[in-house]
Amino acid sequence: DYLIMKHFLSDTITALATAPGKGAIAIIRLSGDKSVDIAAGVFVGGQNLYEMPPARLARGHIVDPKSKNIIDDVLVAKFKNPHSFTGEDMVEISCHGGPFIVEEILTVLLENGARLAAPGEFTKRAFLNGKMDLLQAESVADIIDSRTRASLLQSQNQLSGMLSEKLLHFRDALKYQLSLLEVELDFSEEDIEFASREDLYENIKGLIDQVDKLLNTFKYGKILREGVRLALVGRPNVGKSSILNRLLEEDRAIVSRTPGTTRDVIEEALDIDGILYTISDTAGIRLTGDEVEEMGVERTKKVLGGADVVLFIVESGSVLTEKDLEALHIVKENMNDARLLLLVNKIDLKKNQIPDEVSVQFDVVCEISAKTGEGFSTFKKKLNGLIFDEDVMKESVYINKTRHLDALRRTREALLHANASVKQKLSPEYISLDVRTALDALGEITGEVTTEDILEDIFSSFCIGK
Ligand code: GDP
Repeated sequence: DYLIMKHFLSDTITALATAPGKGAIAIIRLSGDKSVDIAAGVFVGGQNLYEMPPARLARGHIVDPKSKNIIDDVLVAKFKNPHSFTGEDMVEISCHGGPFIVEEILTVLLENGARLAAPGEFTKRAFLNGKMDLLQAESVADIIDSRTRASLLQSQNQLSGMLSEKLLHFRDALKYQLSLLEVELDFSEEDIEFASREDLYENIKGLIDQVDKLLNTFKYGKILREGVRLALVGRPNVGKSSILNRLLEEDRAIVSRTPGTTRDVIEEALDIDGILYTISDTAGIRLTGDEVEEMGVERTKKVLGGADVVLFIVESGSVLTEKDLEALHIVKENMNDARLLLLVNKIDLKKNQIPDEVSVQFDVVCEISAKTGEGFSTFKKKLNGLIFDEDVMKESVYINKTRHLDALRRTREALLHANASVKQKLSPEYISLDVRTALDALGEITGEVTTEDILEDIFSSFCIGK
């Protein structure tokens, strides 16, 4: 009943699979019916590529068939459909990792019948050939983009199909309800209820609860992928730069940013016990009392409004002075659903009791010394615990893309509508229509229901060769 995309992609594509630039080795891939023909046409070696068993290496040369010039010394492997990444016949050529050599080899492959692959086309073919669903295809890109252990683990879970399985389970449950409703429609003259309305209502309600749970994981999934956005706030000289420097020294600072990601400019990124943190705007660090006015409302709103966690930093010995309270007020006004951590610094100089009326204003209070490092390990544990409570960490299935969020929200809407129709005792046609809408929205996530536009959106953000 559902829209199943049937694509027949008959041409053979090629691209560099390894990173561009110089390296010891570069790998060029071919995928499609003519992969072996094209490779055999330019390969001269001890083994015949047609007769050689799959997933073995043949040593030889790539030779330009026109000029008979040897281009490079290579190792060639072939894979027979459907036992390959794309599900098609594939050939991998490992050559020396020089951009000129790669260019020359790609040129002879193109001259001998291959076409240059579009961005993400290898993975797209893997999806279209049923080697993986859409979620898994997306996770291939996420695995490559991972910057911390936690985000890698999440993407690996997604690649292994854990989220897909959960969605499949939702779909099966809905399909069953739909089948009962449809039997009823077939016997509509006889006015029999095959699907008990109470059961139907309860089952759908149960599914809505589960969809809600999954919707709630979006925040975590997104944070795992993109990082916890941290803002450091405090009056001058409380030690903001010293704290940041210590974090950057103790933890793994992540220097390089992948171009083309949709985030703001990121000044600093660090990996604290496997969780990625980004400090999105150093201007935010100097946010305090009078300076808030100077910085301007827009900037304040941007830094605080975008933060997942705000570190409110004060000096030990003078916890929450009049000025601190003023700044705290402004912080709270401009925060958007962020967690607030009171960081009492310089405890090497002076320790003091933090009064309850102060600590109740924060989610967590930590005492540290940026100078000696005292209290930092507890601080980091509490920091990670602020966003990732243990229950959520146990939940190993997350959604992490707006696309998933949007489709799940539509699923939820349709299910709510279905249950409203059940309550109003509407005829089965109406209810089954809603159930179908929910099924379609769910199917979009894994790609059972899809359009060329959705695919274009996903795969065009991949790079060529993936
Ligand atoms: P910022 O203006 O908030 O960024 O503060 P800085 O990080 O520049 O620190 C202000 C001063 O406090 C510097 O002289 C630091 O060396 C000092 N300082 C920062 N943290 C500590 C600490 O934990 N203990 C002590 N004794 N001094 C600190």
